[in-house]
Amino acid sequence: MNNEFNKEAFKQSVLDNLTTSFAQTIESASARDWMLALGKSLSGISNKHLLNTEKTLEDNNARKVNYLSLEFLIGRMTGNNLIALDIYADVAEMMAEFGLNLSDLLEEERDPALGNGGLGRLAACYLDSLAAQEFPAVGYGLHYEYGLFRQSFEDCHQVEAPDAWKGPYGYPCEVLRQELTQQVGFWGEVEAYKDEGGKPRRRWIPALEIEGRAWDIPVLGYKNNSAYPLRLWESRAIESFNLDRFNDGDYVGAQYPSLEAANLTKVLYPNDNHEQGQILRLMQQYFHCACSVADILERHLRLGRSLESLPDYEVIQLNDTHPTIAIPELMRLLVDVHGLTWDAAWNISSKTFAYTNHTLLPEALESWSETLMGRLLPRHMEIIYEINAQMLKDVGEKWPGDIGKLRKLSVIEEGNHRRVRMANLCVAGSFAVNGVAAMHSELVKTHLFPDFDSLYPGRLTNVTNGVTPRRWLKFCNPGLSALISQNVVGDWAADQDILKGLLKQADKKTFQTAFMAVKKANKQRLADWVKNHLDIELDTNAIFDVQVKRLHEYKRQHLNLLHILSLYHRLLNEPGFDINPRVFIFAAKAAPGYALAKDIIFAINRVAETVNADKRLNGKLKIVFLPDYRVSLAELIIPAADVSEQISTAGKEASGTGNMKLALNGSLTVGTMDGANVEIREEVGGDNIFIFGLGVDEVHSLKASHYIPQEYYESDALLKASIDLLYSDVFTPGEPGRLSAIADNLIHHDPFMVLADFADYVRVQGDIDKAYSDQAGWARKAIVNTASMGKFSSDRSIRDYVDGIWKLEKVSV
Ligand SMILES: *Cc1c(COP(=O)(O)O)cnc(C)c1O
Repeated sequence: MNNEFNKEAFKQSVLDNLTTSFAQTIESASARDWMLALGKSLSGISNKHLLNTEKTLEDNNARKVNYLSLEFLIGRMTGNNLIALDIYADVAEMMAEFGLNLSDLLEEERDPALGNGGLGRLAACYLDSLAAQEFPAVGYGLHYEYGLFRQSFEDCHQVEAPDAWKGPYGYPCEVLRQELTQQVGFWGEVEAYKDEGGKPRRRWIPALEIEGRAWDIPVLGYKNNSAYPLRLWESRAIESFNLDRFNDGDYVGAQYPSLEAANLTKVLYPNDNHEQGQILRLMQQYFHCACSVADILERHLRLGRSLESLPDYEVIQLNDTHPTIAIPELMRLLVDVHGLTWDAAWNISSKTFAYTNHTLLPEALESWSETLMGRLLPRHMEIIYEINAQMLKDVGEKWPGDIGKLRKLSVIEEGNHRRVRMANLCVAGSFAVNGVAAMHSELVKTHLFPDFDSLYPGRLTNVTNGVTPRRWLKFCNPGLSALISQNVVGDWAADQDILKGLLKQADKKTFQTAFMAVKKANKQRLADWVKNHLDIELDTNAIFDVQVKRLHEYKRQHLNLLHILSLYHRLLNEPGFDINPRVFIFAAKAAPGYALAKDIIFAINRVAETVNADKRLNGKLKIVFLPDYRVSLAELIIPAADVSEQISTAGKEASGTGNMKLALNGSLTVGTMDGANVEIREEVGGDNIFIFGLGVDEVHSLKASHYIPQEYYESDALLKASIDLLYSDVFTPGEPGRLSAIADNLIHHDPFMVLADFADYVRVQGDIDKAYSDQAGWARKAIVNTASMGKFSSDRSIRDYVDGIWKLEKVSV
């Protein structure tokens, strides 16, 4: 309960907005109108918090983190903001007075899907945790006109549609900050000249200039009156219309710059863990960096601070290599615009940047054609050469005469088509580099950057990812939240370690029963949604087995599918084989250009149609693929899960965060020793998680000894029967072979060792089935999971960043 909140005034404000902005009465307003009017009223409060916080930080000379990310997958904001302001109950009551259900209204908000998956969602959780703990921050991203595509299925195939998330009335939780507009150059050339003192200088003369407008989405702190901006840059043509060309009758040509500029932030690239090297993407990256770095520097100078003191006040965190060009951009501003020497500028820049590595997958490691980068950003290319030259001097001193080391560590990859390696540039230009889970950070040290670890000892560190308990428990699971609050002392949403208090309830019959009743109700809520939207009946007594995440070979949705096929085969062919009823729930988007990922979606949908209709199974198996996976759908699915599938090939999933959200909501993980699964096992204990499969060392040595998947196929009868179903026409009547691309890939290539892990996966799934038969035992394990997830709060991750890297002080508003 927020004592400062004036319910009557707020009510009047919502009614005023209904008339002023939407020309509606109480009687005529639709749910959408109410939601937008509520959003506007809330915006009044959050903008006030935003400005108060800005002022307080200036008055306190606060040091800030600037979190640069090309993606922020924030999800709906209204419900979360009501919780942060501690007015959820008040507003629900107020809406009830109008005969409206608040949670129905909240469903009307579109998800701003300005990210692909885990990386963007992590950035959103981090802003939430920074604000919750009063650590000064600005999030910098892009204001894509279209977020991640909307997914539907037609004849079982994924179909993509544009996501116009702002809607016709605009997005209620954002505010335009016209005064922060920036200008950004592209192309052109570098000019040498002498300054007044006769010193030789260089400057960039761009051929194209684009304007960047700032939209702020205030991120509200949990019950603490602070709000930090998520600042999203939107590209626009510069306001000068080419009148000469217009008068010459070239109407389209006169608008040409605006056509080009408008395209820059039009759409989010829909790839997760995959880079394609397209020019528009590089332009987006530079646009993002140029606007953000200029904004940071202007703020610093406006407060009368010296350039040299920049690292005392500002730290810039690079979320993966996507914003790497911020490093040469800051150097350009310091050297070319502000006239600092190289060494003075480097002394500032190299103390300002820190970099987070998110992947070891080769296809996801960014590199750009040197030619392309040299043409688009000619001055930055010169600066990159200079950064490289300085770094290679260090290499030469450490390993004299070792050409191999120079080649390996160089920012420039040699060859016919030379490329700029963004990760190397990041390591050279940052004072700290972190991986995102203990195991991943170890692999960064030993496999990705082993020589950098000796060249710059101590620079490589770990910060294990986390998720915000406000969105991923308090908001998305009100039933469990209420039960927890009745059984622990203190506000667990502000301090997730308080959940430990549940451990002493884990063996109590009454608590077990209450816990499982909440789970059942959440399963019913999901089952109702599935009935309404997909017309499929789900039995809430069944095990709800959930795999929700981007569709990717390394995440191995096809391993899950093979297990389902093995169950189908055995239930039909193996006398006496029986299992607890199971509902397999999938949700995942595939990148539009990723053919095999789309084949896997098609196959799961086809198998689902056949299996769900097969009366011989007596309802033992159900499969549902929910379309359009996004934050709001995750909020519906995760509280309803019994089993959490985290089955990536060991060494491939840097951390995962879906694994954390699911365990926090009391589902049991079936997982490989990969990413944060390793640490989840440490926290919950080996008896409360189901681990299977090859470890990372075994994966590496099997790969080195020439893995032959066909041998597994031929020697394991159950595996063979399961794969052969994909070759048959059981799921594609009259069209055998429509699913064979997956089978062929597995038998002949299997880059992610699905077949090597199949047998152990089937074994552990049997253990899960057995464990579920003991309902009290299952309840106990589920409770221990929820109780043991304190470590995986993003509040803890942020404290790790603050203590180890950012060195921030809390500032209360
Ligand atoms: C948490 C989350 C992810 C990341 O899931 P992983 O299982 O860690 O890959 C992706 N998308 C959405 C919408 C999420 O909420």
